[in-house]
Amino acid sequence: MAERHASEPVSGPGSASGYTPGSTPAFGARSDDGAPHLLDARSISIRFGGIAALKDVSVTVDAGEAVGLVGPNGAGKTTLFNCLCGQLRPNGGTVAFDGHVLDDMPAHLRARLGIRRTFQRVEVFPELSVRDHMIVAERARRGDGALWKDLLNMAKPRREELDNVERVIDLIGLTEMADVPVAALSLGHCRLVELGRALCGEPRLLMADEPSSGLDMSETAALATVLRGVQREHGMAVLLVEHDMEMVRAAVDRVVVLDVGEIIAQGSFETVVADPEVRRAYLGRTA
Ligand code: ATP
Repeated sequence: MAERHASEPVSGPGSASGYTPGSTPAFGARSDDGAPHLLDARSISIRFGGIAALKDVSVTVDAGEAVGLVGPNGAGKTTLFNCLCGQLRPNGGTVAFDGHVLDDMPAHLRARLGIRRTFQRVEVFPELSVRDHMIVAERARRGDGALWKDLLNMAKPRREELDNVERVIDLIGLTEMADVPVAALSLGHCRLVELGRALCGEPRLLMADEPSSGLDMSETAALATVLRGVQREHGMAVLLVEHDMEMVRAAVDRVVVLDVGEIIAQGSFETVVADPEVRRAYLGRTA
């Protein structure tokens, strides 16, 4: 069986993107540069009672690649996201990261391997400044007990911690607001704080769950620019679950489309939006 590269759609009849629903890449398939896929999820299936939320779904993300996961409401995007992060245990299938099978690994250990996520709902401490949020994230990442000493007011951040914090604040473009309490920021800026906290963990794979939720068009565009810039500059892989197609277009290299628990298309943004099966799933008609 010929190897299929992650960045190529599966060839086959039936849709403009050439993807054949239900087809699964050969286990052990490798990315363009011959390295194993960074994230390699195979045949993920999960049921909630009578609902098959995911049916034999396989997704890969290569190092440094940005992949968008899209689909209509109820398609299974959040469920797949949670299976990959370790918040949900699938009924079938395997998730591997950098060659390690993660199936029995809880979410916090997956985070230590370099899988970091952002949440749809922004959870911030209103009185703390942008910089304070980054310091807390930085100290939590180091996991050397400094966070507890901080809580007891017993330890000052070290030079290298502060350097990393300033680097991240610069990456997310909030240097001028570093000392502003988060309560005074817009939702768009709060989402950047959320992104910054994840970046403090120096992720190899950043998983972002609908980061544009609640943002207006210009805030969404600004977030997409920051995300794309960080991903490209640092060679970080991204898996973006997103409804806003402009954000998807701006922020990813490749798109995977889910509908009713199955992958119906994958390929470039232009390819999948032209796919009649995708249009039918979104619009309820064949274009
Ligand atoms: P949305 O874009 O609306 O967030 P989604 O693509 O993220 O949708 P999921 O939230 O993953 O879709 O849901 C997929 C299916 O699984 C839906 O039919 C949903 O009702 C069902 N589902 C998800 N979580 C649960 C749960 N905890 N219990 C029962 N059913 C669930």
